[in-house]
Amino acid sequence: MVEKLSKIWMDGKLIPWEEANVHILTHSLHYGIAVFEGIRCYLCKDGKSAVFRLREHVDRLFDSAQIADIKIPYPNREIAEACKETLRVNQLKQGYIRPIVFIGEGVMGVYPGENPIRVGIIAWSWGAYLGDEALEKGIRVKVSSYNRHHVNVMMTKAKICGNYVNSVLAKREVMRMGYDEALMLDTEGYVSEASGENIFMVKNGILKTTPLTSILPGITRDSVIQIAKAKRIIMLEERFTRDELYTAQEAFFTGTAAELTPIREVDDRIIGDGKPGPVTRELQAAFFDIVKGKNSEYREWLDYL
Ligand code: PMP
Repeated sequence: MVEKLSKIWMDGKLIPWEEANVHILTHSLHYGIAVFEGIRCYLCKDGKSAVFRLREHVDRLFDSAQIADIKIPYPNREIAEACKETLRVNQLKQGYIRPIVFIGEGVMGVYPGENPIRVGIIAWSWGAYLGDEALEKGIRVKVSSYNRHHVNVMMTKAKICGNYVNSVLAKREVMRMGYDEALMLDTEGYVSEASGENIFMVKNGILKTTPLTSILPGITRDSVIQIAKAKRIIMLEERFTRDELYTAQEAFFTGTAAELTPIREVDDRIIGDGKPGPVTRELQAAFFDIVKGKNSEYREWLDYL
């Protein structure tokens, strides 16, 4: 359960948590066209709080809106500032921020006409998305029977709310079978992404991740690529198949919520020796050092409150 805080930013104002409600005729509720972001703020070693790659997240929100043909009625910098203000007013030193842009009430039917574009920003406390043990020991993954979106059916580069029907179906399917996370293949049969994460694999010292073709351009994915390059780890953005993944020595997911979560099994095949491998551990440790302000080389990724 999301623990209730004091205020939510709605349409330009901070209002009491309980009052941040929408009408049943909200267009987005019926047709799924809305865009959102997921951002984390970390308590850093100096006791200050910093939002991780806030600018990139807000830019992606605007990209998602552009793709979804929604015009956000606030400038980019106002949304960024509102994200920080929502954390401050709720006295949240560490947590998750969820901006959402949606189409309000007015006309009904698929064509949204001139219905108002509304924006909400909610912040709450959120620990490890897949659990602390997942970060430590890795998770069990199953390839879902649902494919990830075809690039000309849904807009895969955008965080459009409706896109997540596919994620929820896949996640429920595999959780019911006792796995922790669903991996999806693209419509050509190649590994694509998970319900809310991008994927990496390691084989013979080479780190590989899927190209951006049919996936969400993850900001954690981009961070890991940059960290790996700085560490001179050989890194490829190249398509791979599920059987190539079965024979990986290491694999992990990246995402704002999931952070860097090791994968210990895929479709009941143990990956490596069933424990997070050395490359995964090194990248995970580097990632957590960076987000917690322990590595000054990546200072520009942190936006202090
Ligand atoms: N793919 C999907 C489908 C996602 O929902 C997410 C989470 N936003 C990601 C990948 C990872 O993106 P990021 O690292 O920017 O959170």
